[in-house]
Amino acid sequence: MAQSKHKIAIVGAGVIGLGLAYAAARRGISVSLYERNEKAVGASIRNFGMIWPIGQAKGKAFNRSMNSRKIWQELAEEAGFWFDPCGSLLLIRREDEGHVAEEFYEGRKDEGYELELLSREEVLKKSPTAKANGILGGLFSRTEMIVDPREANLKTSALLKEKYGVEFHFKTPIDREKLLEIAGENDHVFVASGPDLESLYPEAMVNSGIVKVKLQMLATGPQPNNWRMGPSIYGGLTLQHYASFSHCKSLAAVKHRIAQESPWFNSWGIHVMMSQNGLGELIIGDTHEYGHTHDPFINEDLNEYVLDYLHEMADFPLKSIARRWVGIYAKLPGQIDFVNKVERNITLVNGVGGAGMTHSLGLGEEVIHNFFDENIP
Ligand SMILES: Cc1cc2nc3c(=O)[nH]c(=O)nc-3n(C[C@H](O)[C@H](O)[C@H](O)COP(=O)(O)OP(=O)(O)OC[C@H]3O[C@@H](n4cnc5c(N)ncnc54)[C@H](O)[C@@H]3O)c2cc1C
Repeated sequence: MAQSKHKIAIVGAGVIGLGLAYAAARRGISVSLYERNEKAVGASIRNFGMIWPIGQAKGKAFNRSMNSRKIWQELAEEAGFWFDPCGSLLLIRREDEGHVAEEFYEGRKDEGYELELLSREEVLKKSPTAKANGILGGLFSRTEMIVDPREANLKTSALLKEKYGVEFHFKTPIDREKLLEIAGENDHVFVASGPDLESLYPEAMVNSGIVKVKLQMLATGPQPNNWRMGPSIYGGLTLQHYASFSHCKSLAAVKHRIAQESPWFNSWGIHVMMSQNGLGELIIGDTHEYGHTHDPFINEDLNEYVLDYLHEMADFPLKSIARRWVGIYAKLPGQIDFVNKVERNITLVNGVGGAGMTHSLGLGEEVIHNFFDENIP
């Protein structure tokens, strides 16, 4: 590996911090990474682990997600963590959802996706979890993959330390004074502090328009007898949630029906997805509450909405819930990131919202390329 003369520091060992560290370390740049906790415990280990190009808007977001997916595969092989290129499956249970699937398929099938519109029978063959009752068809996409975010975070950190010599400083909260000190010792500092942006840059938190989004999640224990669910699944509610489907004219009918029939889903930002990790656990979610400050409570009524919807479309052997948790991410509405140079050699990398796993490694690559590539020998 060519050694670069450059030195950088990163604040935050979430997936954005690690994505930046991996991109820099692969170029031979010296990296020091500071994390206030003993290990990462934020959004980056609380998510589904979905690498999700199917949800990304055409253009920059989709291209970044596909580059990210490629890097995730390289990283998983290099660091030795589990991943599953299982794809994703929309379970179509209403006619209007089928119209959106068809419109999406026609509009985007030639743009890097590998899409298939499935009949009812084909869905039941592909997905051991899809319930026969009520299913009309499906939209399968091959580009989605799953990692276990907890394992990926730990093994990526170990790889960065052992193979690339990244210096990790855990249990090291960075305050303003320490930040300026490390800025003096490095060519550049990247602050990837997630939803706690205000501790270091309160003005950026206020002026950028970043909001904090609280989500509720659930997980079963490992499914018995090595039962696997196949592709990750989602239902019609999810069509409202992702930018990728927003151009579909037929989406208006789905939105109208949901608003009339079951407005509580929109009140709590609920859409229902399920993936399975390498341990066999099913990861289920989720709800979305938007604001600057959130209460710490898990609202069981919302979990019931999620589970009722899930059980209408999916069946699986072990149904009891083993764990429930909340997670918070920072989102810049209308944008896919917030990359902002706030001082001569300090840049904030934040605001990636609900697609931070999907975009992190591609974003890290773009940011490090923009700052350093022309200077690397
Ligand atoms: C429930 C849930 C489900 C999700 N599902 C998916 C999914 O399936 N696919 C997908 O693409 N995205 C998903 N996301 C989004 C994704 O997880 C986030 O976008 C991503 O993890 C954000 O990463 P981050 O590194 O910016 O933030 P974080 O993970 O919050 O990391 C920030 C780190 O910075 C540290 N830190 C903060 N301040 C300081 C300081 N002053 N000094 C030192 N350290 C500091 C924190 O301790 C923390 O470890 C989900 C998010 C949630 C919450």
